[in-house]
Amino acid sequence: MHAMVLKTPGTALEWTELPDRHPGPGEIRVKVVACGVCRTDLHVLDGELPEPRMPIIPGHEIVGRIDAIGAGVEGLHPGQRVGLPWLAHTCGVCRFCTSGQENLCDRPLFNGYTRDGGFATATIADARFAFPLGEAGDDVALAPLLCAGLIGYRSLVIAGEARNLGLYGFGAAAHILAQVAKWQGRSVFAFTRPGDVAGQDFARGLDAVWAGGSDVMPPEPLDAAIIFAAVGALVPLALRAVRKGGRVVCAGIHMSDIPSFPYRLLWEERQLVSVANLTRRDGIEFLAQAPKMGIVTKTTRYRLDQANAALADLRAGRFEGAAVLVP
Ligand SMILES: [Zn+2]
Ligand SMILES: [Zn+2]
Repeated sequence: MHAMVLKTPGTALEWTELPDRHPGPGEIRVKVVACGVCRTDLHVLDGELPEPRMPIIPGHEIVGRIDAIGAGVEGLHPGQRVGLPWLAHTCGVCRFCTSGQENLCDRPLFNGYTRDGGFATATIADARFAFPLGEAGDDVALAPLLCAGLIGYRSLVIAGEARNLGLYGFGAAAHILAQVAKWQGRSVFAFTRPGDVAGQDFARGLDAVWAGGSDVMPPEPLDAAIIFAAVGALVPLALRAVRKGGRVVCAGIHMSDIPSFPYRLLWEERQLVSVANLTRRDGIEFLAQAPKMGIVTKTTRYRLDQANAALADLRAGRFEGAAVLVP
């Protein structure tokens, strides 16, 4: 197999030939056909997450086909198309695993961070954490659903019954979530970097009722806001934009420091919460509904060996929607 391997944070990924791996008990081997590139991959690359495992193969929006099955795996078969998300393994016995909060497991593994992921021609997965994808839909178009879509969906559920929904940072996750929110009858207010006219046009093209810079107040108060950009300074701006009792959801795994802000921005029962990881139930719910929602993901394809270019383009905001690697 071949993979793009990160040996040390802050360095480029290296195209590497590795021995083929065989699935152990409870595992499957998946031949990767597409793998999305996520903002979290940049955090791994930059060494911004605690206790990174090095060397590591990044990538956690994996679409592939099972080509080998380990002992004891049931309900999956060779040739089947599956999706592998960020959550790769949980302990099953901690207080979180046993109370429906496996996203907060004390001893989890994550694809592309603490377990080798999908920037590769093949990967080994814990079979219990693979989502059967069926045959409908294009491999490349499906890949971004596995993190951008899924974490977006979990964030939306946590945002609650918001009719006016603000999305701060209009990248891969927001462009999917805007379509989910519209399907649900919500009004989307899109916030981009100040002056990012192209990003604002992209959001309006996805039926956002309003789009503007993150430094601007929306024309109506928001019921909730979800922050996808890894910029802590957006937190007080979003709190300012939500109504009394409104909720601000931080959807990213890492953010720059949040500047201090006056208590009145949180007063009147405004809430500030974060979303961490996903549960398998989130994945099953979202992937079952996604085809009905008519989600069209906008993707830019890169060859697997162009992963460094894809990451650089993501960092610089050089494409709309999501980048996807194709081996
Ligand atoms: Zn656990
Ligand atoms: Zn991700």
